[in-house]
Amino acid sequence: MQLKSVEIKGFKSFADKVDLDFTHGITAIVGPNGSGKSNIVDAIRWVLGEQSAKTLRGAKMEDVIFAGTENRKQLNYAEVSLILDNGDGLLPIEYNEVKITRRLYRSGESEYMLNNSICRLKDIYELLMDTGIGVDGYSIIGQGKVEEILSSKAEDRRSIFEEATGITKFKSRKIEAEKK
Ligand code: ATP
Ligand code: MG
Repeated sequence: MQLKSVEIKGFKSFADKVDLDFTHGITAIVGPNGSGKSNIVDAIRWVLGEQSAKTLRGAKMEDVIFAGTENRKQLNYAEVSLILDNGDGLLPIEYNEVKITRRLYRSGESEYMLNNSICRLKDIYELLMDTGIGVDGYSIIGQGKVEEILSSKAEDRRSIFEEATGITKFKSRKIEAEKK
């Protein structure tokens, strides 16, 4: 599985639609302070279902919508799509290419989509569970995360390894089954 591209529109400093294409190998994003590098990472976390405005460096979720500048009006919604190459079938869905979209309006209304069809956030969580790329996965290592892992309690560290090795899905299914 590979991250093919990220499409951002109206998210934080990205007022105009931008398509970021990631080719094979390593991609580095460089730019001056305040140019939007971290906003790209925030956009990826957000589309994966991040629910904490604080993690996204805001006070409330609406803060992710382009707030306007001196000579440009604020926008009414933010939209981010992640396009993943699923050629190796790691994602349990019968598509070679998977597009995950999240949209949020100032009214508070929000939508998630899988390959352009409206879905629930739960569907996205389940699709990404144990692949290592969900919000709780470890594909995004933020500042301070390494230290947090090293100094965490044994049980917390165990859950990190369970997620990384693909056991979380079975545990979560067991809990669901026991509820019924
Ligand atoms: P550094 O090198 O300092 O880490 P960076 O490239 O990571 O910088 P970001 O933190 O991604 O920069 O971008 C910060 C910029 O994004 C600020 O100028 C801020 O005003 C702008 N910004 C954040 N949220 C919004 C928003 N909702 N609307 C418009 N601009 C926003
Ligand atoms: Mg930054």
